[in-house]
Amino acid sequence: MKGILIKRDALEFILGVSREVYPKEFSALLRGTKEAIGEVLIIPGTVFGNRFASTPLYRAPIDYSIIGSVHSHPGNSFKPSGADIRFFSKTGFVHLILRQPYKSMEDVAAYDKQGNRIELGVGE
Ligand SMILES: [Zn+2]
Repeated sequence: MKGILIKRDALEFILGVSREVYPKEFSALLRGTKEAIGEVLIIPGTVFGNRFASTPLYRAPIDYSIIGSVHSHPGNSFKPSGADIRFFSKTGFVHLILRQPYKSMEDVAAYDKQGNRIELGVGE
């Protein structure tokens, strides 16, 4: 997998939520297709804590259009942690990490389920 697109409104949404919850982390699931991320799914009951692992995945509705995850880092690195990569391997094929200042595409990185960086483009 070389890359994926994200819809502009979904991109604006994740940037905005990341700014809003800072210095806590924001995490959610992504819905879409193999080609494009279309929606961000906030899981009811998600705790916006300092640990990404606190997301209660068992509450996720059964939905076969879930393609991956998104979370923010409260710092200037969007490099996935070991815990992030273990999580990626269990949940879909595309994972986004946002870094400060959560302003634009430059603050968003996309990874595959092994934690390899992939290209991210903006679609309508
Ligand atoms: Zn992380």
